Amino acid sequence: MSSVTLRDLVKRFSEEVIAVNNVNLEIQDKELVVLVGPSGCGKTTTLRMVAGLEDISQGNIMIGDRVVNDVPPKDRNIAMVFQNYALYPHMSVYRNMAFSLKLRRTPKTEIDRRVKAAADILGIGELLERKPKQLSGGQRQRVAVGRAIVRDPEVFLFDEPLSNLDAKLRVNMRAELIKLHERLNATMIYVTHDQVEAMTMGDRIVVMRNGFIQQVGSPMEVYNEPVNQFVAGFIGSPPMNFLNGRMVQDNGSYAVDVNGTHIPLSEAQGKQAESYTNQEVVLGIRPEDVLSVDDAEGRDLTPLNATVEVLEPLGAEIILELSSQGQSFTGRMGPQLNVKMHDDIPVYFDMTRCHLFDVQTEQAIF
Ligand code: ATP
Repeated sequence: MSSVTLRDLVKRFSEEVIAVNNVNLEIQDKELVVLVGPSGCGKTTTLRMVAGLEDISQGNIMIGDRVVNDVPPKDRNIAMVFQNYALYPHMSVYRNMAFSLKLRRTPKTEIDRRVKAAADILGIGELLERKPKQLSGGQRQRVAVGRAIVRDPEVFLFDEPLSNLDAKLRVNMRAELIKLHERLNATMIYVTHDQVEAMTMGDRIVVMRNGFIQQVGSPMEVYNEPVNQFVAGFIGSPPMNFLNGRMVQDNGSYAVDVNGTHIPLSEAQGKQAESYTNQEVVLGIRPEDVLSVDDAEGRDLTPLNATVEVLEPLGAEIILELSSQGQSFTGRMGPQLNVKMHDDIPVYFDMTRCHLFDVQTEQAIF
């Protein structure tokens, strides 16, 4: 069993710097969990504590049923892949991959078998005699992963392993790591600040901020039901729009007033937000739920007048930066849309997919 459990985990670097604050998380055997959040949110420190590279200030880390707080890194049966690959420059690819097994006094024939099997999985069999400086970034990355695979660890830890690669290679390597997870059937914890990487790779994603876990869930859960404004704004690209509004009641049904336009809510949404009637709220609406006249055709939706500030035709879609009485927001619309910069156009919000947030606490009302 190679589950990983973090219980009331705290890392205090000093009085002021609490990098990880009371984190509780259970990572199931064979799961791929992604820790994601902005720079400085504590994800690397969490990973380093699991690896044993950082002391724990408080709490427990368990691998399977074993508390590993005081177990040295080499005895945790974990392999970590770093952002900078950390390859030994003077050693060949083969020796880089064999190194940790050699330290463990693994028999030569076994080392050879494992290095060749890992090289085969990663498609680097031809490169075994090269030195790291004779490799491309993507190849170095594969070697770093290969070095982890040969150890056949219970748990793989990845710390931003793709951030030094160019965009195209990153997408390829992402797919390869997903396949690798399937093939190795191992528990993996993956750290990234890139929400797209998190969404595409994780069985579950853990969104962190300032040392705290904000939300844990499948990518679609976190995308569709963010618990607060931070998560809503962090996951999704372009990010969710936030508009200042007010909860109002018109003849018994509820609506959000945005710049004087009352945009109706469903009965269920109205009930959930009832206690906010006549109060300020933040309306969250994703760019794909901002609709043009064409997209809204046949639906009984309320138009909001907006000015086109910026137009970005991307081929398959058009991204519009819009403004309505000083409130800016982004729309993602069909490619057939016929508009120019500075046009005043009606836009429509698909309110079945909207979110409402408390102005003070920033928590989701729904
Ligand atoms: P990044 O994506 O930039 O790597 P992160 O989410 O991984 O960020 P951490 O590296 O875990 O964040 O850092 C969390 C906090 O702890 C930050 O405020 C950081 O400055 C602080 N920190 C990290 N390492 C140390 C250290 N050795 N001494 C003091 N403070 C540290």
